[in-house]
Amino acid sequence: MSDIPQERRVRTAIPGPKSVELQARRTAAVAAGVGSTLPVFTARAGGGIIEDVDGNRLIDFGSGIAVTSVGASAEAVVRRASAQLADFTHTCFMVTPYEGYVEVCERLAELTPGDHAKKSALFNSGAEAVENAVKIARAYTKRTAVVVFDHGYHGRTNLTMALTAKNMPYKQGFGPFAPEVYRVPVAYGYRWPTGPENAGAEASAQAIDEITKQIGAQNVAAIIIEPVLGEGGFIEPAKGFLPEIARFAKDNGIVFVADEIQSGFCRTGQWFACEDEGIVPDLITTAKGIAGGLPLSAVTGRAEIMDAAHSGGLGGTYGGNPVACAGALGAIETMIELDLNGRARRIEEVMKGRLGEMRAKLPNGGVIGDIRGRGAMIAIELVKSGTKEPDAAATAALAKACHAEGLLVLTCGTYGNVLRFLPPLVIGEDLLNEGLDILEQAFATL
Ligand SMILES: *Cc1c(COP(=O)(O)O)cnc(C)c1O
Repeated sequence: MSDIPQERRVRTAIPGPKSVELQARRTAAVAAGVGSTLPVFTARAGGGIIEDVDGNRLIDFGSGIAVTSVGASAEAVVRRASAQLADFTHTCFMVTPYEGYVEVCERLAELTPGDHAKKSALFNSGAEAVENAVKIARAYTKRTAVVVFDHGYHGRTNLTMALTAKNMPYKQGFGPFAPEVYRVPVAYGYRWPTGPENAGAEASAQAIDEITKQIGAQNVAAIIIEPVLGEGGFIEPAKGFLPEIARFAKDNGIVFVADEIQSGFCRTGQWFACEDEGIVPDLITTAKGIAGGLPLSAVTGRAEIMDAAHSGGLGGTYGGNPVACAGALGAIETMIELDLNGRARRIEEVMKGRLGEMRAKLPNGGVIGDIRGRGAMIAIELVKSGTKEPDAAATAALAKACHAEGLLVLTCGTYGNVLRFLPPLVIGEDLLNEGLDILEQAFATL
């Protein structure tokens, strides 16, 4: 509902009594392995607000993990998806196709970087898109090895667990993992031993050395990287790193895959984060922000690569569901109409300004070791004051203090010490600032 009042309201403890009751039912019926950041049960959501079953209204700095960039009930998404729902819910595109799927693929060809001929295939989840990018790259190159990076995150299925760097909670106890996956260094500026100014050149040289000496470039089907690393801690690879890896891939016939599942669709202030350094990936995986909250994902790329898989080799019962496609067309329409790239850049300006002021007030920057990210994908990395030692406890305490005041924030990072901010791009500037006020007060509780 787009008429949900855009005002924070805290009228019970958070979570409130109705949420606590539902949480008891949930604990009895839902598998323990499925967690929740904040067990507040949602009644409705839209714009920058999540309203819970107790009538509290939370400021949303999470967007359901970078999904509801247009809001959780955007008018064009609701209108188009509702109309599609009434017409038909499903036929299976592999049985009898429909126009919405084709139209989403046409939009993806227009919006993704590069003016070469492009094709797409649609799926349900981000992990499924990444798996299919690997299938396509292997079919095209007739090679098997896949290269990924330290701190990378690509999903929770068997192959994507293998691609994901962090053990706990994503991989622990769930192996054995898919073979022929190799991990190499990434240019993590804040933690690069010789400093951020050297990280781009040194990390790319190390990565390329490991690929050529340990794997053999001629065996590599794909190099997969998030242009801004998401779950790993909102790490922007230092300048020069991505272009060098992309050049190496091109020179060696390796398919360069940008995993833009979190960073894509206006999140960083550009349609895709790889545009920032002028990268044109061979394949690009998208999901999360693509469809205003409906489950949809895609692999888009060079037509000759996308066509390498034999007919019937790609697909799935639900892939490119018609309602999800209608949602995507509504979300893309909203992004263009409201200039959400511009909104994301404005969110960056406000957030980085305020976070910089907060750090300046703390002696030596206090626990705020680093402020980083682009657009509406901003994070602070928290450390023990005066060191670079990760402070996961302070991060958890800050998140808890924010939650109690009705501000939903998420954490991430290999060391669990990154507080990340992913507000819907349509959030009002007053709510954005109110959320930052709450964060600022939370520092006093440490
Ligand atoms: C979330 C995410 C995925 C996995 O997407 P799911 O829809 O959860 O399967 C893959 N890659 C990146 C970069 C992500 O952020």
